[in-house]
Amino acid sequence: MTASDTPEPLPLRCARVDAWDAVGGLVHGFERSAGVAPGESRAASRARVTRALAPFGELLLLRQVHGARVHVAPWASAEPEGDASLCEQSGWLLGIETADCLPLLIVDPRRGAVAAAHAGWRGTLAGVGAAAVAALVGRGSRAGDLLAALGPAIGACCYEVGDELRTAFMDAVGPAAAAFFRPGPRGRPHFDLRAANVAQLARVGLDPHNLHQVDECTRCRADLYPSFRRDGPAAGRLLSFVGFAREGSQAARFR
Ligand SMILES: [Zn+2]
Repeated sequence: MTASDTPEPLPLRCARVDAWDAVGGLVHGFERSAGVAPGESRAASRARVTRALAPFGELLLLRQVHGARVHVAPWASAEPEGDASLCEQSGWLLGIETADCLPLLIVDPRRGAVAAAHAGWRGTLAGVGAAAVAALVGRGSRAGDLLAALGPAIGACCYEVGDELRTAFMDAVGPAAAAFFRPGPRGRPHFDLRAANVAQLARVGLDPHNLHQVDECTRCRADLYPSFRRDGPAAGRLLSFVGFAREGSQAARFR
């Protein structure tokens, strides 16, 4: 556990990675909205978080479809279809919305670049985390420089899946994928989404020491996070964000 619940410097209650405070100008968080805004609609969450982050930069969201497409921000259209984004300019915050899926934030302190991804089982199988890393590397980043934070997501404690999911990962990843599954109490496997993504990031060259975890289960932590498995289709969304604060903004004091 490398995270803390630090309201400052952000005007939002968030889980954050303490180690990232050393990166000047970086703004990031995994919002713990369930504790302050239970039952809030997705649109209301977006509006509230967008407003709270406005002094640091403009929040950019995607129309998420459980794929592996990466968009380069800022973009022209309102909300492009895809599950990952990257940005090399300050003043923009990449946002990801989840309700049990894994939010993944990536930072390249050397180049001042960031990426964000939405990784449920489909996106993980499609390699969305690896795609985000490849997009950064394709634009000049070195995988060994990248820092990644895996946010709150449904844990293996709660994530019962079908045998076909295990087969799909075994086919795609190989025997190593066996480590992502454990037997569940009802005879069906439980999937460790976090472990699958850690393995994927390690395969594309990230240093395990640079992988940070907010290792909390969204389904267990009803006091902190929305959960699709727990709350059903009406579940709110956990909003995660990362970016470099606008030059000259109040965040300049963190540089
Ligand atoms: Zn759980």
